[in-house]
Amino acid sequence: MSSFVNKAKVVFVLGGPGAGKGTQCAKIADRFRFTHLSAGELLRAERSRGPYSQYGTMIEQHMREGKIVPVEVTCSLLERAMKSSSGQRLFLIDGFPRNQDNLDGWNRRMSAKVDMQFVLFFDCHEDVCVHRCLKRGHNGGSGGGGGCIGSGRSDDNLATLRKRIQTYNENSMPIIKYFEGAGQVKKIDAAPNVEQVFTQVERTFLASGF
Ligand code: UDP
Ligand code: MG
Repeated sequence: MSSFVNKAKVVFVLGGPGAGKGTQCAKIADRFRFTHLSAGELLRAERSRGPYSQYGTMIEQHMREGKIVPVEVTCSLLERAMKSSSGQRLFLIDGFPRNQDNLDGWNRRMSAKVDMQFVLFFDCHEDVCVHRCLKRGHNGGSGGGGGCIGSGRSDDNLATLRKRIQTYNENSMPIIKYFEGAGQVKKIDAAPNVEQVFTQVERTFLASGF
C-alpha cells in the first residue's frame, strides 16, 4: 500500500528532434516542480566521460547516425538519475521511450516502480523541426558539417538530422501511436512560439491536477 503512495510519477515527453521538448521541460520543471531528466542529455554526459565510460564510443556512434542506443544503457542512466534525485517524486522523462526496445526495456525494469501519468506529445511539422535544429546547431558560428559550438551537439547538422527524422518517423511514431491507442497521449501543437506552446502545456498539467 505505502509503496503505491510513494511511487514516483513520471511523464514521458515525446516529439520530433527540434519540437521543443527540452525548452518546454525546463519551463515545466520551473512551474510545477517536476525534475527534468533528458535521456539525450544523460547519454551525452555519459559519452563525455570519455575513456572512463565503457559506453562512450558506442553512444557517439549511435548519435552520429541518428540511431537509438540500446535500452539497457539509457534505462540505467535514467534509473540512476531518479534514485539520486532523493525526495523527488515528479519526473519528466524527455526523449524516451523512442522505440520498441526502449519501451520493452522500461516496462521490464521500471513500470512497476513508477506511475506513468501520461505522454506529453509535441506535435510539430518536420520542416519546422529541421529549421529549429539547424538554427540551434549553427548558433555560435560553427558550420553545420561537424561539431556545433552553439548547441554543443555533433548531431545538429543536416546529414545527421535527416537520419534522426527518419528514425523518429520509423521507430518513435509507432510508440506514440501505441500510447495514443491506450488513451495516454496529451497532444500539444508545438508550431507556435515558446510562450504560446507553454500556455497549452500549463493548461494540460493544471487539468491533470499538478
Ligand atoms: N538518444 C537515444 N536514446 C534516447 C534518447 C536519445 O539513443 O532515449 C540518442 C539518439 O541518437 C538521438 C540523440 O540521442 O538522436 C539525441 O537525442 P535528444 O533527445 O537529445 O535529441 P532531440 O530529439 O531532443 O533533438
Ligand atoms: Mg532534447
